[in-house]
Amino acid sequence: MDAIAMWHPAWSTTFPHRVAPKPGESLVSLLLRCNQENHWESGTTRTLLARTLFAHEAHARMKLEDLLVPSQQVVVLLAGWLGLPIGTIVAATYLRELRRFFGSATSVAGDLCYWSVFHLCPLCIQEQRVLLRCHFLFGMSSCLHHQVSLVACCACGALLKPFHATTEPFTCSVCRKDWGTLLPVPAAPVELEKEQQILACYEWWLRHGDVASMKETLLWLRDLEGASKGNHRASRLSCLSMRLARWRVLTGSSYVGSLNALVSALDEWDLLSRFSSEKNEEDVFKWKANRAEDPSSL
Ligand SMILES: [Zn+2]
Ligand SMILES: [Zn+2]
Repeated sequence: MDAIAMWHPAWSTTFPHRVAPKPGESLVSLLLRCNQENHWESGTTRTLLARTLFAHEAHARMKLEDLLVPSQQVVVLLAGWLGLPIGTIVAATYLRELRRFFGSATSVAGDLCYWSVFHLCPLCIQEQRVLLRCHFLFGMSSCLHHQVSLVACCACGALLKPFHATTEPFTCSVCRKDWGTLLPVPAAPVELEKEQQILACYEWWLRHGDVASMKETLLWLRDLEGASKGNHRASRLSCLSMRLARWRVLTGSSYVGSLNALVSALDEWDLLSRFSSEKNEEDVFKWKANRAEDPSSL
């Protein structure tokens, strides 16, 4: 977009240079591009948001997870600053889908990602300067478009950080290397296939599912486990559920982010592939009735 000139009525309420979300872009990425367009350091827009929203809290900080599933205030404020409809900002998050799914106005990051690993696709950065919102879903560790592993560490060994007070956007806070020049590492085909299924499963539930059908499916899986006397589950421990268990040990948390738990449980039973964009609700749950009659067929 063109710069806002001083005579423009929006000059005092918006940024000099405004950006709009690209398809599939995350809010984190939008803030970084906003900083870049305005020639600010990488944490500037996030700091402005935190200071405006939490002016009375001395040590208020806005963490990565607060941007992955943000509050309505963050969305409204940012929409005003960027001169965009609120819905356009919402599209850079999973807020709309989570509201429909849970039937409530508020959601937490834990519904989609147990912990927030900051990682990125060097090729997405190089080509479009974007971090996609789907890359932050629990269980995703590859870019399905570029078929490379997501990178969490710089070539210098430093952990990548989304925001830093004295660093340009999209660069390492230690050696200043541009994230787009990090070496892309091809992801294993088996990993890509699994993550395609994980993403399709999230998308199916976010589009068609609701809390009632999620609870029903979780209970059904629990009964199935009982029917199989635990043998199947032990042999079906997936990469996803191991990561989940490790997170619980590391954080000492017993919090179960519901959609995460569901996708992880379906993965354990090798049922992810049942959920894809071509299947409607009737198709998906037909197998459940059949399998309940004969759990040993799993
Ligand atoms: Zn990519
Ligand atoms: Zn570095």
